[in-house]
Amino acid sequence: MKAGAGQSVQRLSVLGATGSIGQSTLDLVGRHPDRFEVVALTANGDVKGLAELAIRHRAKMAVVADPEGYQDLAKALSGTGIVVAAGGDALVEAASQPADCVVASIVGAAGLVPTLAAVRQGRRVALANKECLVAAGELFMREVSAADTELLPVDSEHSAAFQAIGASAARDIEAITLTASGGPFRNWDHERLKAAKPEQALRHPNWSMGAKITIDSATMMNKGLELIEALHLFPVTISQLDCVVHPQSIVHCLVSYRDGSVLAQMASPDMRTPIALALSWPERIDTPTKRLDLAELGQLTFERPDDRRFPAIRLAREAMAAGGAAPAVLNAANEVAVMAFLENRIGFLDIPAVVSDCLDAASSGALCRAVDHIDEILAVDLAARELARSMLEKRGVA
Ligand code: NDP
Repeated sequence: MKAGAGQSVQRLSVLGATGSIGQSTLDLVGRHPDRFEVVALTANGDVKGLAELAIRHRAKMAVVADPEGYQDLAKALSGTGIVVAAGGDALVEAASQPADCVVASIVGAAGLVPTLAAVRQGRRVALANKECLVAAGELFMREVSAADTELLPVDSEHSAAFQAIGASAARDIEAITLTASGGPFRNWDHERLKAAKPEQALRHPNWSMGAKITIDSATMMNKGLELIEALHLFPVTISQLDCVVHPQSIVHCLVSYRDGSVLAQMASPDMRTPIALALSWPERIDTPTKRLDLAELGQLTFERPDDRRFPAIRLAREAMAAGGAAPAVLNAANEVAVMAFLENRIGFLDIPAVVSDCLDAASSGALCRAVDHIDEILAVDLAARELARSMLEKRGVA
């Protein structure tokens, strides 16, 4: 990744380029044209968006996951010299292209296989796709070690923990506390939550993100998923992981040490800061993130999450404690329930209820077994989606 004048040119691929994280990444690329060279970009079905990004950033390859998008993409990119492909194998091919860093920003468990392909290249993976680690944490981390891949967290809380831990020894860390904004419904009572609509849940107070993670923030499942993610990324046990609601989203994580010190990382809520760190570490690069003015902010506040109104964190903790395939069941059930909510087929409070029903049903069967291979995780993921759909049917949802 070396280039002249003491600066590196980094060959970069972005899986999920058309999404919120993908576009923030490419915004940074556009601000540092001498530093980055784009290799492969992927999307699911947004052919127009992908073609525009591929042309603007002079990508070498553009891949759309949905095979039906192939003809349109090929047409949009004809004459550009950009290699075009479509389908699941093509995603893996894009992830496997020679690159110095792959940004894994596909949403959901759909990102697992292509992200693993990037991991197996043994280069740097900037990981936004937390569902990978939730569904397949142990197996995923085993592959990271085997390939000697640098795995850099993009999630702001984990980027913060990564920075606050630095070179500290595991034995010195007492606890990691992730912060949560509390989402748009932080102060809503049970009756209002019951009637909450997708358009209300999609109005996040601090962050501009894709639809799925925005709903996860509203249910607080996002924090549950992040606790599981942290368990796999950092040298801590479940009991050392905690979270606290911090509505201003300025402090992203706190790491407590055995001597009573607490190190926190702060920044305005803008994903370009943690993305930039994952791309440039151990260096840092300029970002347009609004600079913090603590006096202007005046107050930073913290409160305990309310488990009664937001049971998702408890569900995630239960799945994390159960281990094996339980987190994969939690993740798959949540993805199905979130989609049903976004399509107005279930209510807001049905999301954790469906996840809970699935975890209960799975715990008494073979679904929550120990897993030793990625194919087994993929099978559990499929079966858990089926289970979640049957739970929706039981609730009378078409
Ligand atoms: P978006 O929904 O904005 O973007 C998702 C991206 O993945 C799009 O490029 C989409 O393509 C693509 N995609 C969707 N489904 C598939 C599929 N089945 N196969 C291949 N590609 C697919 O999501 P975000 O950018 O918000 O989030 C991405 C990941 O990053 C998530 O795991 C999220 O939890 C995590 N994250 C996001 C943060 C944020 O601020 N947004 C913060 C921290 C973590 P298309 O556009 O064609 O649909």
